[in-house]
This record gives sequence, C-alpha cells and structure tokens, in this order.
Amino acid sequence: PVPTAEALLNTMREQDVKFLRMQFTDILGTTKNVEVPERQFEKALRGDVTFDGSAIEGFTRVEESDMLLRPDLSTFAVYPQFSRDPRDPDDRGRVARLICDVTLPDGTPFEGDPRQVLRRQVDRARALGFEMFVGTEPEFFLFERTPDGRGTTVTHDKAGYFDLAPIDQGERVRRDIVNKLLAMGFDIEAAHHEVAPGQQEIDFRYAPALETADRIATFKFVVKRVALEHGLLASFLPKPIAGVSGSGMHCHLSLFRDGVNAFADPEGEHGLSRAGLQFIAGLLEHAEGMTAVTNPLVNSYKRLVPGFEAPVNVAWSTSNRSALVRIPAKRGASTRAELRMPDASCNPYLALAVILASGLDGIEQDLEPPPAIQRNIFKMTVREKRHHRVRELPTDLREAVDELEKDGVVAAALGEHVLTHFVRAKRAEWQEYSQTIHAWELDRYLDLV
Ligand code: GLN
Ligand code: MG
Ligand code: MG
Ligand code: MG
Repeated sequence: PVPTAEALLNTMREQDVKFLRMQFTDILGTTKNVEVPERQFEKALRGDVTFDGSAIEGFTRVEESDMLLRPDLSTFAVYPQFSRDPRDPDDRGRVARLICDVTLPDGTPFEGDPRQVLRRQVDRARALGFEMFVGTEPEFFLFERTPDGRGTTVTHDKAGYFDLAPIDQGERVRRDIVNKLLAMGFDIEAAHHEVAPGQQEIDFRYAPALETADRIATFKFVVKRVALEHGLLASFLPKPIAGVSGSGMHCHLSLFRDGVNAFADPEGEHGLSRAGLQFIAGLLEHAEGMTAVTNPLVNSYKRLVPGFEAPVNVAWSTSNRSALVRIPAKRGASTRAELRMPDASCNPYLALAVILASGLDGIEQDLEPPPAIQRNIFKMTVREKRHHRVRELPTDLREAVDELEKDGVVAAALGEHVLTHFVRAKRAEWQEYSQTIHAWELDRYLDLV
C-alpha cells in the first residue's frame, strides 16, 4: 500500500524528521540527492522540486537542464541515527529519504533516468503476465583506514568463510549494519564472513525488481556509513586484492505469474518450466552483451578469472558453482536462477533491466538452453569446452563494451540516450586505464630491457 502525502507529512512530524533527501541515480550508478528542509516537505511530496540536470553525469545538455523529481511515496524511509559528529547541533532531528523518478518539466518520464529504464522492462514483463523477483548477495571488504582517515587495502581480520568471532572482528560491524538496515525496513536473511580475510556478505530478502534495485543503492550507502563509524572503509570494489576472492553480487531471479512461481514445474526437465528454461536460455544468449552493464569497471574483469568462484564461462548448471547460471536445489515457490557474474559496482537499475530484458527475450524467441553442465568448468580443457559449446565472458571492459554494442536486445533495453552516454563514459575509462603506466609494468620490465 502506497502511503499518501498527507500520511507521510504526519509521520515526518511525529518522528521529528527535519530533512528529506530526494534521491535518484545517475547513469553510472552514483546515488544523488537534493535535500530539502521541513518547510519544503509539502512541495517536495507534490513533486515540485526542480534541479539542474546538466550537472549530472550523462543527464542532459545545458539547454534543456530543468528536471523534476517525482517521489515514489512507497520508498519512504527514515535513516537510522548514525553516531553523531560533535559539530552537529542538538536539535538537528532525523533525516528521511524518498527515491524519485526524474521527469521533464512537463511531467514526461526522462529517458536518461536509470529507474525509468528498469520500469520499462518491468512493464514489458507485466504485459507478458510476469513479475520478476530478485534477491541479491552483495559481498564487500572491510579495510583499515590510515590515522588521517584514508582508505587502505589492509584487511582488519584474518578470518575466512563462516568463521566466528573473535577471529572475525567483522561480526560487530556486520551486526551494527544489520540492525540499522532492519530499522530501515530491510528483511535481512543472513550475514556472514566471506572466503577472503576482511570479506563480508549480507543478504536481504528477494523483492520485485524495482524494489530490489532501490534497496541495493540504500544498502551500499548504509554499509559504507556504518563502517566509517567503526573507523573502517567498506568497499564493494570487485577485486581489491590479487590472489584472493573478489566481491560479487549474485542475483537470484524468478518470475511469478498470478502469485505463482513460473519457473517451477515438477514434470519439467530439472523441475523447471518451459518459461524457466527459456529465461535461462535468454540469460546465456545475452551474457556477453550484458556484462558491461553488470560488471562495469576496469577492475570488474580482474574478478572474472578462474579459481575464485567467479564465473568465466557462459554455461548453466544445477550443481556446480563454476557456471554463470546456477539453479539452486530448492523448487516450488523458491525455484530460481542464480546469475553469478554481476558485481556491486553496477548501476542496479540498469543491471536488472538488461538481465530482465535478456530473460524475456528468451521467452519471446522461445530459446532453448544448451544442456546443463554439471562438471567443474574450470577443469575442462579448451577442446572439451569447444565440444560443449561453452563460450567465454568478455575478459576486459573494452571487449565487454564491444559486445554490448553488438547486442541489439541489451542495447534496446538501455535505450538510445543511456546507451550513448554509458558507452562513451566506459570507452573513456578504458582509454585512461590503458594509457596509464601501472606498477606491474615497471616491476616486470624496467630493469629487464
Ligand atoms: N566471492 C565469489 C564471487 O566473486 C562468490 C563466493 C560465494 O559466495 N560462494 O562471486
Ligand atoms: Mg551467499
Ligand atoms: Mg558469497
Ligand atoms: Mg550465491
């Protein structure tokens, strides 16, 4: 049930909310906000807050810069009380937020708004009778800060997978994060230490795609903010340390039709329905094309290497974790496909939009997935892979952007405006990286030649 503006004004008065953040995201996934004080609450709830879009990465040209923030009232949340800075006055009150859609002054949705891109796919699914649910497993590292507050890649513990305190100092920080997320209405399923020293995972319950995308943005903000209070840096960088596991954000995907899981069919192959198999086939068909969006950093590709439970090959499996798409054992209402390549550096709206578009394409084109591969793909030879028609994911950002431009379905899902800006930004990023002289080159070659 979406609360009315009237009800939200009352809630904010009761909870002593003094500032309201009107949040949205740019094309590269950075959360932005315009903060309004109490006296502007009514105006903000009416959707009357304007901002200059030309200042936002990938938004508009200077000559068409006025944008409106239309709040989605169902996203209202009051931020938890973070530990106070002594410089804050005593009467500062609480801060709440609303996630907004961005529109042109005449109220038409702005095509460069990532939330709009996801809404388009959600509507397309609805027209076919489906709703996509997504659950995620974001992983991140907790790192030490230097005495003057700068981040390092020194991990604050030496623990490993599922270790218990006191080896795991992350437990205190994780609990603090979990409590604050619970207070904001998150339904947390699990929190644990991950494989690498200092690496953590916190899972929250699956929800419709748009809600999950909103939550990923909030989640990252809260994790980073709480870590800061503990004097640590929380980083979602996909591969901060060579030689140990990187951080992914596995996405568990399912379609529901009339409240029933549409992937489940006890009679079907692997207990999967026709639609489930077609959806998986669509994910595999467009895997290379969507990777630039789900794994958008130069660094993302240093995670997608063999040996660290991150996928490298385009294949699916009902058992092994080396595959790109894994079907967890649970059936019935929990039947789902786990897509294992995304990482948390992605723009969650764009990532879920291209994932949904790819799966739906599988359904619309009636695609058939190749046979599931139950062996460890990392241990297969090149010839075996060729025999099983196992393709490879892009190995760097440049290749991924080339693949994105070749994939009409993924490109169309982003739409002309977002595609153009995204590709331009990513090509520039790649160029800057490739023109930089890295420490590795000097270590390796300086004395040698
Ligand atoms: N960290 C691994 C990755 O990069 C996943 C490990 C796990 O959750 N089993 O995807
Ligand atoms: Mg997990
Ligand atoms: Mg994990
Ligand atoms: Mg997983």
